[in-house]
Amino acid sequence: MKKNVIVTGVTGQDGSYMVEHLLANTDYNILGGVRRLSVPNYKNIQHIKDKRFKLIDLDLSDVHSIHEAITKYKPSYFINFAAQSFVGASWSFPQQTFDVNATAVLHILECLRKHAPDCRLYNAGSSEEFGNIKYVPQDEKHPSEPRNPYAVSKCSARQFIKIYRESFNLFAIQCWLFNHESPRRGIEFVTRKITNGVAKIHLAYKNKKKPEPITLGNLNAQRDWTDARDCVRLIWDILNLRSPNEYVIGSGSSYTIKDFINPSFECIGIKGKWRGEGVNEEYVYKGDVLIKISPEFYRPDAINSWQDIRTADITKAKKDLNWNLESGLKELAHSMVENDISLLQNLD
Ligand code: NDP
Ligand code: GDP
Repeated sequence: MKKNVIVTGVTGQDGSYMVEHLLANTDYNILGGVRRLSVPNYKNIQHIKDKRFKLIDLDLSDVHSIHEAITKYKPSYFINFAAQSFVGASWSFPQQTFDVNATAVLHILECLRKHAPDCRLYNAGSSEEFGNIKYVPQDEKHPSEPRNPYAVSKCSARQFIKIYRESFNLFAIQCWLFNHESPRRGIEFVTRKITNGVAKIHLAYKNKKKPEPITLGNLNAQRDWTDARDCVRLIWDILNLRSPNEYVIGSGSSYTIKDFINPSFECIGIKGKWRGEGVNEEYVYKGDVLIKISPEFYRPDAINSWQDIRTADITKAKKDLNWNLESGLKELAHSMVENDISLLQNLD
């Protein structure tokens, strides 16, 4: 009997890459959990045509569907990527964020404990859990002082995981993943918003039209961006360690939003100039404003810039794991811009 792996969030970024990784590197059956939407959203998985990959109904806001999936498939691994994953939306939907990101994890744990106690569970944690940054870079011991509803939900899930691991000996873990991106990143996240906007600007110039500026929020935030494809490889390795262990995962470097903007424009041959300050800051090229700022995209937790410097201390991951990054920020930005250009061209 082949082992069953349940992966949730397969229509999203990490879940879809994890399915590809598992199909390429194991002979397991992969059950991809999807929720019902009025218009199905399978663009990240529609190219996968392997008989070992099957979609199953699994809505994390419905405890019965969690129960049904676990009792029916008795998984050897449960990889939970499904979430309300956008920090910005977590102020608009705090309860839904908590239900899906925390309460559902409790249901998964409880159900695994009763029906598949040997199953290995990975739940997606986040550098957002650290919240108020006390020191840079952040390691596994950095305190958690969440500053938004998303971070609270991930911290709560972490506590449930810890309790079930310690009380019931479940192999259940949650690593602290720093921001990771790819051409499949959700469109509202800052990197993809930039690369999508740059692709539109490229096509506007190509068609001799005036480009629309990209409107952003706080440019002072710093993030540790890696490639999502590197992250899923590592998560699978962590899930297969001899005993449960949790790691901070990132590149170990921190970048400003401008550090991502510059290579994105370079990819289409544009080298503009920054002028002005704060909300009046702009990125200008040959008289055209290509980036402007609007307070609309500032977050309620953007208290000041030093608190929002996210950098992973990957000492532990490097020591225990074979953590080799396959691409740098420039290659990542270029792959995202090129993908967005071809997506937009195919729409024409
Ligand atoms: P995405 O936003 O790309 O994917 C989220 C997935 O969750 C989608 O497939 C979505 O399905 C699914 N989902 C949402 N609500 C439900 C629900 N009620 N029931 C079932 N499925 C649901 O996220 P990422 O792939 O970027 O991130 C994966 C995980 O890692 C998330 O938990 C995220 O919070 C966490 N994380 C991500 C980081 C990053 O930088 N990417 C950093 C740190 C943590 P649908 O298509 O139907 O909306
Ligand atoms: P997050 O780190 O999970 O919140 O990932 P995001 O990509 O959404 O945001 C990364 C950082 O970019 C945050 O500090 C945001 O405040 C900042 N940022 C600046 N402008 C924007 C914007 O227009 N959209 C988003 N999503 N983030 C922005």
